[in-house]
Parts: sequence; structure tokens; C-alpha cells
Amino acid sequence: MAVTATEPSTPTSAAFGPAVALSCRECGERYDLGPRFACEFCFGPLEVAYEFGDITRESIERGPNNIWRYAGLLPVPANVRELPNMNPGLTPLVRADRLAAELGLRSLHVKDDSANPTHSFKDRVVAMAVEAARNFGFTTLSCSSTGNLAGAVGAAAARAGFRSCVFIPAGLEEAKVVMAAVYGGRVVAIDGNYDDVNRFCSELIGDPAGEDWGFVNVNLRPYYGEGSKTLAYEIAEQLGWRLPDQIVVPIASGSQLTKIDKGFRELIALGLVEDRPYKVFGAQATGCSPVARAWEDGHDVIQPVKPDTIAKSLAIGNPADGPYVLDICRRTGGAVAHVDDDEIVDSIRLLARTEGVFAETAGGVTTGVLRKLVAQGDIDPDAETVVLNTGDGLKTLNAVSGTGVTATIPPSLRAFKEAGLL
Ligand SMILES: *Cc1c(COP(=O)(O)O)cnc(C)c1O
Ligand SMILES: [Zn+2]
Repeated sequence: MAVTATEPSTPTSAAFGPAVALSCRECGERYDLGPRFACEFCFGPLEVAYEFGDITRESIERGPNNIWRYAGLLPVPANVRELPNMNPGLTPLVRADRLAAELGLRSLHVKDDSANPTHSFKDRVVAMAVEAARNFGFTTLSCSSTGNLAGAVGAAAARAGFRSCVFIPAGLEEAKVVMAAVYGGRVVAIDGNYDDVNRFCSELIGDPAGEDWGFVNVNLRPYYGEGSKTLAYEIAEQLGWRLPDQIVVPIASGSQLTKIDKGFRELIALGLVEDRPYKVFGAQATGCSPVARAWEDGHDVIQPVKPDTIAKSLAIGNPADGPYVLDICRRTGGAVAHVDDDEIVDSIRLLARTEGVFAETAGGVTTGVLRKLVAQGDIDPDAETVVLNTGDGLKTLNAVSGTGVTATIPPSLRAFKEAGLL
């Protein structure tokens, strides 16, 4: 039920920790914490509002080596560590001196989220949705996925004891389909692209058949999205409680980018980091670049596109958070840019060759956009920069097909020498 802003907020259920309400991003209307995602008045997206308790660097540092060290900043119960969940996070922040040298940057780090339990950043957001689903008594976990989310939901459902049924567009990479299915839940391919899958899921939610279903990125979306804040917290903590000057973030729906910004602003508001400016840069594949096009054209409205790119994890043609991404990149002095499939592949190889990080296509997009923005002079080569790798290269092996053995030889030293391989 809607409550007006002047009424006292309902007592917080301890199940949601510091979260006190959902609030509309557009009109500010507040709602009780529930499985809702859109404002009844203006249809704006809802987000979690908090009243934070005492949080210090020390209290965080005493926490576990995963996202639950930030439980006091998330919509989860205080005892979340004891509940069955995937416990993602605290992935490496790789100091990337060799890549920095190739690109002409002074200080660069790669936040490598391929180190999460199902090898993409999606474990962070699903971990939040699992806690919300538990609180609301849902029995089935579901999602519309561009690939990685399906695997993260399948695994988390298995761990936490939910049924799962996930929906993906037909024609995804084999590794992503297998990873979604191996945990034993249902995997349904829909003839169409991600935007068709998403529309289908909205229909299912509106039907009584979907009543006890928690769709992590639809009716649990406000909670799900908060998981991306942990990327911001970790990067700041791993830099020694400092914000980076510049960060390059991939855009699918745009949720991750908006929540990284939210995370940085919370750290500043809580006095956990110094308040200094940071620039957020968004990265898309040319074959699905509605936000980058709007940026180039100076538009506030995102024109939906039909995706055609090897970066399937980012292939959302009608990104829900696109307008907010534009706002954030403008407000912080960043930009949104895109690179084509050839540049994505090149960049996957560049990152692997210089830093030993094998990225999926989404990491090729961010690395490629980083390279492009440095070349264009949009990224300051002297300022501290972080680039995200959000998924594992093993999930998109086809992108680097043709990469393989240097030579096949008989087991003889002579043959090895003759092949000129010494
Ligand atoms: C889902 C995903 C993203 C970002 O998604 P948003 O919808 O923009 O939050 C980035 N990288 C990978 C690999 C993903 O799977
Ligand atoms: Zn509203």
C-alpha cells in the first residue's frame, strides 16, 4: 500500500536491515518494502531507501571476505552471513600497469568480477534478490536473462533451496546455457531477443500462475539492483578507502552503472571516503548502443534498437535505466561510448595479453571503450582509472575462436627445433 511522504514510515522489518522503504525515482512517493517495482502514480522505477546505522571503515573491515561485509548498507538482515546464499564479492582489483603502459595511462586497475561464484558480476545482484525472495515467501526464483543472470539464478536457487525457472533468448552461447541448466532448474529459451523475453516475463508476473514467483530483475528489481553498489564499495575499499577519478562501466539495462554511482555517493555521505569528484563512463557494443547514440546526439530519450553484437550479455535494446545513465555521465563529467565487434575481440586479447585477465565480450567492450576514450582525450591519462571486467572469457569462447595451439608436432626434440619454436 502506498504511504504519503508525511506519514511516519512503517516499522522496518529486521529482515531488510537498514532498508526502510521503497521510493519512486521520479516523484519520490514512498512505499512499504514489498515485491513491487513501479510507482502506482507515475510508473517510475522504485528504489530502496535506507536509514543507515553507525558504519565505520573498521566495522566493514572486520566483516567476511565477501559482499556481506557491507550488509549494513544493503537491504538484507543482519544475520545474512548465516543464511544459505552464494556469498559473492571481494573480487580482485588488479593493478594493470602493463595495460596502462600500452594505453598511455598512469594508473589503471581492472576490477575482475569473473572471480565470482558463477563467473560474472550477476552473483552480486542475485544474492540480494535471494534474500528479498526469502523475506516475501516466494518459492520459485526466475528471471529474464541475457545469459549470465540465468546461471547466477540457477546456482543461487540450488544453494538457497528455491525452485528455479529462467528465461533466455534462443541462440545464446552454449557455455551460458549449460551453466544455467546444470544446477537442475528449468531453462526456457524464448524465440526472440532479450526484450521479447522481458515482455513475456512481465505478462507472467501479471498472471495468477506467477503469483509465488520472484523474478529477480522484475518484481524484485529494486532489491536486486542494490547488489551492484557492492562494486563501488569494494573498489573504494581496495583503493585504500578512496574513490577512483574515472571508472568505465558496461551498460546492458544500465542498472549496474546507476548503482555504482549510488554506492560512491553513499560512501561520501557516510564520511567513509573523501568527497571528491569522480567521472563515470558507460560502455556499449556498437551493435547494441542505444544509450551511446543518445549521448552522441545529445538526446534525453533513448531510441530502442534491435541488438546485433557478439556482446550478448549487454544486448538489451531498450535499457530500462538508460535515461539515468545519461544523467549520471553528464553530472559527473563522464561520457558514453561504443566499440564494434572487431574492437571487442581485439580488446579481449589485449587485456589477456597484458594482464592475464580473460574477459568475456562485456569486458572486451569496457576495455575497448577505455582505449577509445583515452585516444579521444575524454579520459585523463594522469588520473586514477578503474575498468570493469564483469564476466569470464570461458563463457564466450567463440569470440576468440581461431586462438589455439601454436603448432602440433611429434614428440621429438628435433621436430620441435625444426618447427622453429625455440
Ligand atoms: C548483466 C551484465 C552487465 C550489466 O548489466 P546492467 O543491466 O547494465 O546492470 C554487465 N556485464 C555482464 C557480463 C553482465 O552479464
Ligand atoms: Zn512516482
